Amino acid sequence: MIDKKIIIAIDGYSSSGKSSMARALASRIGYRYIDSGAMYRAVTLWAMRNGLVDAGVVDADNLVASLGDIAVDFMPMPDGRQHTLLNREDVEEEIRRLEVSNNVSQVSVIPAVRHRLVALQQAMGKSKGIVMDGRDIGTTVFPFAEMKVFVTASPETRAQRRYEELKAKGVKSTYEEVLDNVVTRDHIDETREESPLRKADDAVVLDNSYMTVEEQDSWLLNLFNSIIAGNED
Ligand code: C5P
Repeated sequence: MIDKKIIIAIDGYSSSGKSSMARALASRIGYRYIDSGAMYRAVTLWAMRNGLVDAGVVDADNLVASLGDIAVDFMPMPDGRQHTLLNREDVEEEIRRLEVSNNVSQVSVIPAVRHRLVALQQAMGKSKGIVMDGRDIGTTVFPFAEMKVFVTASPETRAQRRYEELKAKGVKSTYEEVLDNVVTRDHIDETREESPLRKADDAVVLDNSYMTVEEQDSWLLNLFNSIIAGNED
């Protein structure tokens, strides 16, 4: 096998399991994993804490004017995970709450927010050896990524997975609330002007509705190995 590091872009719908598979692949092949959604969530949390979100409406002008005050970064943890830092504070747990999920797509439509986070993401990929997941990684952040995957599954399957995940974490919500959030976010993400959620023309589609985690992980690893070997068939 040739020892060349590549960029791996994994895009897809909300709660499609792309983060778990991206993280597992990165750890298996010794690459850095970046959850780009966490960056949008951190900016959203900052906006909420600073009174710039009211009933789902974002004060975009003030948020854009404050972008210089918002530093988003990641901190590697001993268990191999990365925690999201907002101005050096560990906000990993807080950004996963449903209140943040309910506002994040409205923050993500703001072009200046996207430009700033995309620039940060591109800087993180400079030396390659990175697996990044999100919505626009294969289309906008790394259009020249050597490996691109687009993950999808039915909204009901995704909502059920997310609901179980939240329940296991002790977060109160109902299946209907989660399904509503998944469908609403998909819609906003797919219809926004600036880098909407879209499969890159050269991305490989993975519908994981009926796959186990192990099956997904080995599917992804096989794709990686075939790309590295220069054999994309
Ligand atoms: O991946 P996750 O579901 O945590 O992302 C949260 C939200 O952040 C998405 O619903 C989307 O609105 C936004 N996002 C984005 N572009 C990315 C990653 C996430 O717009 N690359």
